[in-house]
Amino acid sequence: MRIGAHVDSADPLAEAAARGAEVVQFFLADPQSYKNPVPREDVERLRASEVDVFIHAPYRLNVASPNNRIRIPSRKLLMTHARAAAEVGAKGLIVHGGHVEGGDLAAGFANWRKAFEYAENDGGLPLPILIENTAGGDNACARRFDNLARLWDAVGEFGAGFCLDTCHAFAGGEDLVGIVDRVKAITGRIDLIHANDSKGGFDSGQDRHDNLGNGKIDPELVVAAIRASGAPAIVETPGGVKGQSADIALLRERSGA
Ligand SMILES: [Zn+2]
Repeated sequence: MRIGAHVDSADPLAEAAARGAEVVQFFLADPQSYKNPVPREDVERLRASEVDVFIHAPYRLNVASPNNRIRIPSRKLLMTHARAAAEVGAKGLIVHGGHVEGGDLAAGFANWRKAFEYAENDGGLPLPILIENTAGGDNACARRFDNLARLWDAVGEFGAGFCLDTCHAFAGGEDLVGIVDRVKAITGRIDLIHANDSKGGFDSGQDRHDNLGNGKIDPELVVAAIRASGAPAIVETPGGVKGQSADIALLRERSGA
């Protein structure tokens, strides 16, 4: 079982070492912008490292959007981030399921499909895209699993992967008991777990991560999800080196990893 953390992008390998992490995730550009990835000096070191690397796409990226001025740059960003992520040897690019302003989810799923078609016509995706479930919104493509199933009908054939966030699932109103089986019945796979506690209550719709055992989720359910999935796990929790090291230690201790 490989466990790690979402860290600052300046020197991810140093951050991983400070936490004893076997996996790291970071951003390649300002997550609140539509900016292209920033060129890095540590590409060779990242590729050579024994630490598994995952890249998180910017939050603004929303390929499901009905708005051209969001959807078109989002498609392009998906490609530039996928290429830059492959360049650093990443095992996957995590992209939020997105949402449909105005509410026609069918159009959102069709737009997701078009994003994969666009990518195929633009040379293909050089690494797996891992679609992540989200916590909030009524028009989210990957909050409720009935919608996730519709999304997968649209994109499954393109080899999309899945990232399960425990905070988002809980706050999004999906029971964590037996969740891995429910997800796998839809997607057939879980590539990564985001192992986070939730400050917000069940079905609150709040995307507010907390340290394991500090929030509303029973940590045993997070451990059970990691174990059942067999996937690597990343904590996206507060508290820097100290807070995240404690979360990683808790997961290792309880899972016997
Ligand atoms: Zn997450």
